[in-house]
Amino acid sequence: MGRYATLGDVAGKRVLVRSDLNVPLDGDQITDDGRIRASVPTIRELSEAGARVVVTAHLGRPTGAPDAAYSLRPVAARLGELLGREVAFAEDTVGDSARAVVDGLADGDVAVLENVRFNARETSKDETERGAFADELAALADAFVSDGFGVVHRKQASVYDVAQRLPHAMGGLVATEIEVLQRLTRDPQRPYVVVLGGSKVSDKLAVIDNLLGKADTLLIGGGMVFTFLAAEGHEVGNSLLEQDQVETCREYLERSRESGVEIVLPTDVLVAPEFKADAPPTTVAVDAIPSDQIGLDIGPDSAAAFAERIAGATTVFWNGPMGVFEFDAFAGGTRAVAQALTEVDGLSVVGGGDSAAAVRRLGFADDAFGHISTGGGASLEYLEGKELPGITVLED
Ligand code: ADP
Ligand code: MG
Repeated sequence: MGRYATLGDVAGKRVLVRSDLNVPLDGDQITDDGRIRASVPTIRELSEAGARVVVTAHLGRPTGAPDAAYSLRPVAARLGELLGREVAFAEDTVGDSARAVVDGLADGDVAVLENVRFNARETSKDETERGAFADELAALADAFVSDGFGVVHRKQASVYDVAQRLPHAMGGLVATEIEVLQRLTRDPQRPYVVVLGGSKVSDKLAVIDNLLGKADTLLIGGGMVFTFLAAEGHEVGNSLLEQDQVETCREYLERSRESGVEIVLPTDVLVAPEFKADAPPTTVAVDAIPSDQIGLDIGPDSAAAFAERIAGATTVFWNGPMGVFEFDAFAGGTRAVAQALTEVDGLSVVGGGDSAAAVRRLGFADDAFGHISTGGGASLEYLEGKELPGITVLED
């Protein structure tokens, strides 16, 4: 157990694992179990080493109180199927049920505690409150393994404070994510192309800012592109537009011209009169977007141009769909970009929850890419150059 050497022999020990099991649900049906599958190797490795594995995780955004709609019970059941062994389930986070379930574990057994965000202290900004909750979590275990990459940018009890209270180690999933992110930031192999899309430009400004100093080319699509197109003086009709970010986008375009880091915008877009799956699409040039239409995807010429740049790169990071891929008629740009990433001779990385869901929905296999990150926010914060508290805390 090289990775967990700092924990000593884990056989017979209770090991608390913070996983990211935050999957999309439709009722109690899991619509994409990618994050559960990604969490399996660490849990299995610890279980096979004889640890009594206690998994803590969150699901959705409950308001700090139990809410059946966000119960981890169906997730625990799916985890059991994937592990091929029974998984015990505690009906609370640190209470009587959690203690009883943990006490009942034999060596190698696995339990899942109820949604950690059913307890308001998990995300409290008050260190004392959060610490008290972390004490209770720590009392359930002898060691802690941090494996929820999607939450390592959060200073929360089950991510940060609990690591200060138990012997701790980085889980294999988090270690892989950090390794990949380091390859993207420390001396990446060139040409280095970054593709950004998704809905809001304001979510991605800091990462654009940082990557303008690192990448060779930034390709921009998705809803955020219309703020850039507006900054170039184009009319964008009823497309998504963040008026208060136009000036910042203009500055980035200016900086790109000065620094030689190319920002490439689409030359054509697919527009429709309504934001609807069956709205009739029309391809228009970016300088001819009708005032009563909404841009819902990059156009075919742009998709081909983006694909060519991507396929010719040695390092590619992609975050954010190129269009409203949830509607088949507007998934073409996202499909072209995904396809091009699979053809990269080098490192191709897909980051972001919706981007990962998009490639799966479009039928691409996970292993067609160099790496699919499980944590959108965390990978973006890392690429912004920020410190991730859930990582820093493991280092001391
Ligand atoms: P990720 O989760 O991969 O970081 P985001 O959350 O930033 O990505 O954005 C994903 C969303 O962006 C998708 O739901 C998609 O429908 C939306 N989107 C993409 N292009 C457009 C567009 N032109 N107009 C409106 N929404 C868009
Ligand atoms: Mg998203």
